[in-house]
Amino acid sequence: MQLPALYLKRGEDARLRSGHLWVFSNEVDVQRSPLADFEPGEVCAIVDSRDKPIGVGYVNPNSLICARLVSRGLEHALDKSLFVHKLNVALALRERLYDEPYYRLVFGESDGLPGLTVDRFGEVVVAQTTTAGMERLKDSISAALVKVLKPRQLWWKNDASIRSMESLPDYVDLGIGDPDDSPLIVREAGLEFECDPVGGQKTGWFYDQRGNRDHLQHLVKGKRVLDMFSYLGGWGLRAAAYGASEVVCVDASQPAVDAITRNIARNGFADRAKAVRADAFDYLKALREKREHFDVVILDPPAFVKRKKDLAEGRVAYRRLNELGMQVLGRDGILITCSCSYHMPRSILLDGVQQAARHLDRQAQLLWHLQQGADHPIHPAIAETEYLKGFILRILPA
Ligand code: SAH
Repeated sequence: MQLPALYLKRGEDARLRSGHLWVFSNEVDVQRSPLADFEPGEVCAIVDSRDKPIGVGYVNPNSLICARLVSRGLEHALDKSLFVHKLNVALALRERLYDEPYYRLVFGESDGLPGLTVDRFGEVVVAQTTTAGMERLKDSISAALVKVLKPRQLWWKNDASIRSMESLPDYVDLGIGDPDDSPLIVREAGLEFECDPVGGQKTGWFYDQRGNRDHLQHLVKGKRVLDMFSYLGGWGLRAAAYGASEVVCVDASQPAVDAITRNIARNGFADRAKAVRADAFDYLKALREKREHFDVVILDPPAFVKRKKDLAEGRVAYRRLNELGMQVLGRDGILITCSCSYHMPRSILLDGVQQAARHLDRQAQLLWHLQQGADHPIHPAIAETEYLKGFILRILPA
């Protein structure tokens, strides 16, 4: 296999050899391999300063992370058969974990496919590339997905904001299959949720919270539950299924609220659950004014800390939100609080919760740590793959 070589400077192979997959532009020996000689997304051999190849990857000369390693050694080309192999390895885990074909099949770096995300909704597959390298390999990926999963439809949901860091355009299109008007259904824990991979958030459904929602079965029977930032009702409807007496789902987006309402009806919870369109902060303040209380409050907001420099501001927002959440909890309440911001450390989230509890003269007990589900595996060498954190706490009078 003849590939252009990307040479690293002396010692800069250490991170890759210890398991990481990224090369930063200042680590490249640009005398030997000028980055400008590469096209965005071009496949290359990544080679150390003593000419020992590390593996095959792809380059983006315009990005701070200028190369990513896809395959160790030089035996495997980045072609359909390599993708078939990697998809099968990823599939073996998910088939072990889940009874039904609803899960994240590929979680980028953690599944050895940096820059690629694939979610599976039964016969419908929704994929996303976030790097120029994976974008260029789309045809091989597509052919491999067809071979491994034989999907009825394959959507490319290529509108993630991080694509702009690789100068990639935003688009959503149907790569394989025929369009149809029927809503996409995701099945979780015996419930059915209508979702929209094309217009919806992320790739349509937050599989990362599935295992965390399982905790509700011990917490909600006969209780009043408030599900803030509900999206399609993932948490709230699970609570209704586990016997909550009343569930209120709140989201700022009208399409989300309409979808929750349909999901409530579809699962037969119309007597117990409702969806409200409101800004979460305003809604919680209004509940506080009315002195209304819930037994369980779920706070699962969008990322408040999208970039590292937003941390100072974001941590205040998380703290404020948690304080508001506690103010609408009854005397012996359960607070479920999450952050999907990679840049928001777990310890800072917990500090904010504890400060809020003290400020309200209440006592917090941490019952469970939450993290992303096992279909979003964490790569121990790549901190960025661990993004979802959360806590289930009991909030008592002091
Ligand atoms: N809890 C959901 C995922 C939440 S995604 C689940 O388990 O699937 C974040 C949601 O918050 C989105 O649906 C978005 O519309 C909503 N949102 C964003 N800002 C908001 C705000 N200020 N008030 C209420 N909802 C908001």
